[in-house]
Amino acid sequence: MNKFLPFALPDIGNEEINEVVDSLKSGWITTGPKAKQFEQDFTNYLQQEGNIGLQALAVNSATSGLHLALEAVGVKAGDEVIVPTYTFTSTAEVVRYLGAIPIFVDSDPKTLNIDPRLIKQKITEKTKAIIPVHFAGLAADMDEIIAIAREFNLKVVEDAAHAFPTYYKGKLIGTLDSDVTVFSFYANKTMTTAEGGMLVSKHSDIIERAKIMRLHGISRDAFDRYRSKTPAWYYEVIEPGFKYNMPDICAAIGLQQLKKIDSFYDKREKMAKRYDIELANLPIELPPRSEELNSTHAWHIYPIRLKENINITREEFILKMSEKGIGCSVHFIPLHRHPVWRDMYKLQSEDFPIAEDVYHRIVSIPLFTAMTEDDQTRVIMAIKDILNNV
Ligand SMILES: *Cc1c(COP(=O)(O)O)cnc(C)c1O
Repeated sequence: MNKFLPFALPDIGNEEINEVVDSLKSGWITTGPKAKQFEQDFTNYLQQEGNIGLQALAVNSATSGLHLALEAVGVKAGDEVIVPTYTFTSTAEVVRYLGAIPIFVDSDPKTLNIDPRLIKQKITEKTKAIIPVHFAGLAADMDEIIAIAREFNLKVVEDAAHAFPTYYKGKLIGTLDSDVTVFSFYANKTMTTAEGGMLVSKHSDIIERAKIMRLHGISRDAFDRYRSKTPAWYYEVIEPGFKYNMPDICAAIGLQQLKKIDSFYDKREKMAKRYDIELANLPIELPPRSEELNSTHAWHIYPIRLKENINITREEFILKMSEKGIGCSVHFIPLHRHPVWRDMYKLQSEDFPIAEDVYHRIVSIPLFTAMTEDDQTRVIMAIKDILNNV
């Protein structure tokens, strides 16, 4: 019997281990030189086509980054923020942190990204921002979303937790004309720092604000501006800020993961192509082909959809895969189905027909760079075996 193949695993090599050990031995384990270097390397990666004045702030999660981003663009209590229902709860919870109201929108049936055609009808006097999510690693319809934001004077904060790296119309996510973009380095994302995230923006006022709020609302700069001989111990707290900084131990992992991101990407793409070919003639719908959608695909996840009217439920499929020693997952349980959002905003399943339909049929199958070709063969054989017998 083969070992159980989990749905995802991080891909950590000796490079990451040695870099972390270096931090541990250096005497500096929290935010310091490695976090700064990681921010620099990350902006360099995003700006490989040329400097557009991007700045990056390393944070301890994408959730923290999204919170800082919304705060920095001026979202306040009572404001409304448009989010997709087809996402992880972070996207909406950060809106609540600020006392603002998440407004949930259904998905494009092909990509499961927020449907721009449905955004306009949800805009009110109170709408302040839109948070598109690039589901699975395929870019949302950013030109449409940014055009709507301009028309109604809204901010755009991209939840790019799945989208590193993703090119939208030839430009990397993180370099588009939104206000802020936030990436995640959670353990199962396309690269990891164990826990962590990166906030990037071209707007120095947003970066300045997020930088202060990232660390307790402490401003050293404000003081330095007025007095030349700042004693090292002195600081001023100018806001009730947060504790969202990334420790160097995490940044150490990120520095080395970032060096591998292009090879990770190639490997993910190769595996996705193999699934595309091997799973083509089964009663499932494969992920949309990105060539038709102005976007490359980061392949954070590979979600398949069981066809309607086949003789196996999604639950049975996942159970059978598990019996064959293979872990699967579901991305996502739409937010309108979770008790907190459903009850707080009286959400009805009928108002989200696309998310509802897809949610019942979707399964994420293993796709991660630490997987071997043999592991992938096992997944393919298992799926064929299950679906050829229904
Ligand atoms: C993983 C994820 C997040 C949260 O990332 P953390 O770094 O764990 O906070 C946010 N949004 C989406 C869509 C995600 O998948």
